[in-house]
Amino acid sequence: MSQIVRTTQQWQGLDRSHHMHPFTDPRDLNKKGTRVITRAEGVYIWDSEGNKILDGMAGLWCVAVGYGRQELIDAANEQLKTLPYYNSFFQTSTPSQIELSHVLSELTPPGLNRFFFTNSGSEANDTVIRLARYYWKLRGQPTKRTFIGRKFGYHGSTVATSSLSGMAPMHDQDHELLPHFAHIVHPHWYTQGGDLSREEFGLQAARELEKKILELGADNVAAFIGEPCQGAGGGIDPPSTYWPEIQRICKKYDVLLVADEVICGFGRTGEWFGSHTYGIEPDFMPMAKGLSSGYLPIGAVAIHDRIFEVLSEGGKMIHHGFTYSGHPAACAVALANIALIKKEGLVERVKSDIAPYFRATLQQMADAHPIVGELRGVGLIGAVQLVSDKANRTVLPPTHEAPIKAREFAIQNNLIMRPAGLQSLVVAPPLVITRTQVDELVDKMKRSLDQTAQLFGLA
Ligand code: PMP
Repeated sequence: MSQIVRTTQQWQGLDRSHHMHPFTDPRDLNKKGTRVITRAEGVYIWDSEGNKILDGMAGLWCVAVGYGRQELIDAANEQLKTLPYYNSFFQTSTPSQIELSHVLSELTPPGLNRFFFTNSGSEANDTVIRLARYYWKLRGQPTKRTFIGRKFGYHGSTVATSSLSGMAPMHDQDHELLPHFAHIVHPHWYTQGGDLSREEFGLQAARELEKKILELGADNVAAFIGEPCQGAGGGIDPPSTYWPEIQRICKKYDVLLVADEVICGFGRTGEWFGSHTYGIEPDFMPMAKGLSSGYLPIGAVAIHDRIFEVLSEGGKMIHHGFTYSGHPAACAVALANIALIKKEGLVERVKSDIAPYFRATLQQMADAHPIVGELRGVGLIGAVQLVSDKANRTVLPPTHEAPIKAREFAIQNNLIMRPAGLQSLVVAPPLVITRTQVDELVDKMKRSLDQTAQLFGLA
């Protein structure tokens, strides 16, 4: 690929003619022309015009170890030379699949010892839906089919996972939800908490699950799914009372608990998994992104022993799988990625060094900024809530264009940050970001917010 060099305009022309982009307004893109990213190193990406841009989003929350890591490149290269492909259907395996499942079993919370490989987070969540329903069928409770998620939850973009997600624009586009999917409120104190303390609100938000289970009938509910800290929904880190109460309710009504670790997994929250950070004991744990730092596509589902036992007792073939479930090169890269995270102590570094610095620096900016109501998130997920009135917690109306404009200003200032749910902006840089680079990120973020406030007369 590197030998094909065109001008930016030539690339934009071809892109306009032939390329359909995910999560993009085609007409708007056609007008503006795509930005072509040509190379990357560390926490920076370069576009075809030579601009050096600080990647405050680690790609799409995935490039944990930063760009250009030779260990991952070598792992892919070696594997492609030795065995570029073989599958794990019909009683075969490859060494990298076996080694990766073993390594993962040592990192995940107790009891999560089986791993099913996918190519993405969406496929991981689709897998959870299929396996959970099959589990209840084998347990003689075939009516337990409904999944309860949360508003502003994001679990993928396939037919099933867009219904599992709680994103209204996705539901609108498809006209309706698939049957057997329901949603409860997101645990966002700032907009939902009213006069309650955060802890009181956490309990109240969790008890919405109990209400929904009773409304649907526990005999019809297969599972509850939540991201430990909601990512695309706006970095919503729940109050400390939330997850213990969710866990209690799931146990009480025999509802499976799914922790979607696609963003939180592999160190982003300061522990290996968000489930460690929040004390969640899930039955299923879908993961992707940080598993390979995005160098090759791979996802996985961690399955609890008690679930796997039932699935095995079926005594039948499990009719589920993908041609590239556990692609050998993707598994080899994931193994090298995990080895590097361990060698460099990145999880510990996030917890005790860089995330505290990142949060304190962002907090200082957020406190002083007239259009920022609160800083949310955990670890290296930082989201700022845009408001029109800081004193009264008045968030910008849902159609206000400030977040999109702020993203555009950020890119002019050579920073990638993105709008997220609830009229907020989020940054989630690679785990290797340095303090100086955090300063640069927050400085550019502030400048972009200043420009946004000025444009809309918000300050
Ligand atoms: N779950 C969560 C929490 C996610 O953030 C995402 C993607 N952003 C997905 C699932 C879907 O992953 P993918 O895009 O790899 O299908």
